[in-house]
Amino acid sequence: MIFETRCAGCGKPGAPVCRTCRFALLGPAPRDASHGVIAAVAFTGRARRVVLGWKYRNRRSVSRHLAGLIVNRLLAVRAQHDFDIVTWAPTSRKRRRERGFDQGEFLARAVARQLGLPCRRLLDRDTSASQTSHSRAERLAGSTFVARPGLDGVRVLVVDDVVTTGSTLTAAAAALHDRGAEARLAAVASTPDRRSVVVLPFARRAAAAAA
Ligand SMILES: [Zn+2]
Repeated sequence: MIFETRCAGCGKPGAPVCRTCRFALLGPAPRDASHGVIAAVAFTGRARRVVLGWKYRNRRSVSRHLAGLIVNRLLAVRAQHDFDIVTWAPTSRKRRRERGFDQGEFLARAVARQLGLPCRRLLDRDTSASQTSHSRAERLAGSTFVARPGLDGVRVLVVDDVVTTGSTLTAAAAALHDRGAEARLAAVASTPDRRSVVVLPFARRAAAAAA
């Protein structure tokens, strides 16, 4: 059967995210990185494989599951009522073509549904080469965005899949601030600080915590 459902993380036939991978995604939240993004999980191990496998398999159900991780993290920090609207930082046309969809958009829509909030596209990539309003540092960091007008005082949650340097989400937030909005950032996964990558199995972690 061609359209058999397989786990996005490990490829096992059955659920879009199998029980083992689900469990692996329930790890502790990554330490809040300096870029201030609320991230649900660290981008390592099975969590990493699920996010990478998402582009091939069961987009909607995997999006729902990963969105649930973000929502749970928002609940944990009691931020679930802090927003009026959900949006995403649109991916580049090239990346969208490669993947066939915009992961950020899928996530934002699923997060919005779970929070009972509207989801709108509020950001466009700023592609104008002659744009002089951005600093050299911003341009070097990669993407800059322009936000739609009419956002004065609106509290926006910007959702993305993986945060590495935080530059994309920071640029998105800057564009929203320019329009008078408040912006907060959330991602499924953040790449770990290289200096602190210590992956212990659960038993050893528990023993280490008890020691
Ligand atoms: Zn799996």
